Amino acid sequence: MTLTLTLSLKRRGNKLPRPNGERVGVRGIGVEMNELTIALAKGRLLAPSLEIFEALGYDVREVRASRKLVVESGDVRFLIAKPMDVPIYVEHGAADVGIVGQDALRESGVNVYEPLVLGYGACRLVVAGKPALRDAEWRLLAGLRVASKYPRCTQKYFSARGLSAEVITLYGSIELAPMVHLADLIVDVVDTGRTLRENGLVELDEVFKSQAALIVNRASHTLRASEIRGLVEKINGTQTNADERR
Ligand code: AMP
Repeated sequence: MTLTLTLSLKRRGNKLPRPNGERVGVRGIGVEMNELTIALAKGRLLAPSLEIFEALGYDVREVRASRKLVVESGDVRFLIAKPMDVPIYVEHGAADVGIVGQDALRESGVNVYEPLVLGYGACRLVVAGKPALRDAEWRLLAGLRVASKYPRCTQKYFSARGLSAEVITLYGSIELAPMVHLADLIVDVVDTGRTLRENGLVELDEVFKSQAALIVNRASHTLRASEIRGLVEKINGTQTNADERR
């Protein structure tokens, strides 16, 4: 009891941030809700994600023009993060909502809501290797080494099929691994297939298809239900309008 009281007074005095961006109010009565915090993945998904918020009337010029990682705009706050980190920010409540590729989402293994897929950022996670493997029973080869920046998805793919493989985690240029005999196979994201082709590799199997998705922290989904429902509906509306224009 004493401990709880001390902690809550401390929080009040210092305005310590709490999960989901809530802060104890200056007046010390109750909790002030901050802006809704939205984590956006850097890279290919950022431009189309910003277009959505621009269509909803948010000023996103500062996100585009600066290298700031936190940008406030109207009643929301954008966090700009590495794709693999977006699910983590959302799961832990540092962001209420996030936009991220399903590839990064599956790899992170987080426990969040995924109420909406957004129809852009389409790509596929595939198993690839040298052309000679296409006609061989590559699944049955003993001592398979597989390089990937998706070690969790890779392990899951092989385990689900009862296959044993040593997964080697890399952080980029995965296509290099078979060329220098670091690995027999790779598991990587492909879009047009050009990177595979130009590096002498062929697709052997598809692990899953991916596109951008909206994700929501489980606590925020309950505590900020109407705000989040409103946002999801508005974003869904921009997607429907975009589909109609296509
Ligand atoms: P592509 O040559 O068009 O098949 O693109 C493949 C390369 O781009 C690989 O190095 C991938 O890691 C990367 N890539 C393709 N699509 C995506 C995506 N949606 N998200 C992240 N990386 C991607």
